[in-house]
Amino acid sequence: MSDCLFCNIVEGEMDTDIVYDDDKVVAFEDINPQAPVHILIVPKKHIETISDIEADDYQLVGHIYKVANKLSEKYEIADEGFRIVSNCKDNGGQTVYHIHFHLLGGRQFQWPPG
Ligand code: AMP
Ligand code: ZN
Repeated sequence: MSDCLFCNIVEGEMDTDIVYDDDKVVAFEDINPQAPVHILIVPKKHIETISDIEADDYQLVGHIYKVANKLSEKYEIADEGFRIVSNCKDNGGQTVYHIHFHLLGGRQFQWPPG
């Protein structure tokens, strides 16, 4: 087992229901959902924080947005709208240090965030 929770999920070592899987990313429902739809989109590559994304990863990040659009259709939140969030380090509220994109939908969100 890795020290990284999301690497373990990527490796299939956790009992996690995967809702999307391809050669670059997996997606699964957040264990503590903050909205009716709350999916985490996680690259298979271990990248600790948004600050650690390098030029070689730009295509991967674009791919994540493509997957987010696909999932927004699947979960029927595309028409009404949704929010994608990536928390970075302490001030951003990051708790798992393997980058991930929260896809949130199914209710009205407020701005500014808390
Ligand atoms: P963040 O706080 O932005 O780093 O997001 C980490 C997210 O991972 C939180 O929303 C947690 O609820 C979620 N999480 C933690 N452990 C699991 C797990 N085993 N399965 C699914 N989601 C998890
Ligand atoms: Zn990892």
